[in-house]
Amino acid sequence: MVETRIVDACKKAGRSRSEVTLVAVSKRHPFAAVLEAYDAGLRDFGENYAQELTEKSALSDLPDVRWHMIGHLQRNKCRDVVPIAHMIHTADTLRLGEAIARHATACGRDASVLVQVNVGGEAQKEGCHPHELAALLEQLRSLSSLVVRGLMTVPPVATDEHPASRYFEALASLRDRHGGATALPELSMGMTVDLEAAIAAGATIVRVGTAIFGER
Ligand SMILES: *Cc1c(COP(=O)(O)O)cnc(C)c1O
Repeated sequence: MVETRIVDACKKAGRSRSEVTLVAVSKRHPFAAVLEAYDAGLRDFGENYAQELTEKSALSDLPDVRWHMIGHLQRNKCRDVVPIAHMIHTADTLRLGEAIARHATACGRDASVLVQVNVGGEAQKEGCHPHELAALLEQLRSLSSLVVRGLMTVPPVATDEHPASRYFEALASLRDRHGGATALPELSMGMTVDLEAAIAAGATIVRVGTAIFGER
């Protein structure tokens, strides 16, 4: 049970359960699964695809559901996603940030974003490179209607030599070097296989799909 795993991991890390938000990743599961999880008390849901996020959010007007965009966001999808997303975890370029900010301004509210960082420096992966982070943060912070709340990462597949904890610690230390928890309160990291390691390293948001909804 995911909740038990989170509680145990927080205890082990000497952290309070209230410091960690569980985002239930409902991608490729039907809306009925979202409703079931909602009835079980979950309120934060994550989707990878703009269309799926838009469709599912339109199926209900549950006022206290918070939708998280956790997949790569194309600029031409910002019009649909920005009005409904509680948080966009995948801001990784200035151009995307500008598109998010433009639509947030049009909606008359601020958009909360996390900057996705490619901590493993993988060639094909989304996210800004660690050495680009300082400049990107500065540029994003200059945009109105856009608030940078923290950092997010999807680490490389873990191996014995390079366990996930190493990448989570890398993200936490990037945060420390770019203003710390005051400037960047949220660290979105950790999935079904590695949420314990993420919480140990300071995750404030874990994104869990399989352990809640089963295999996709
Ligand atoms: C699918 C996905 C998750 C959830 O992964 P599980 O292994 O099913 O827990 C978390 N974050 C991102 C970015 C994802 O794409």
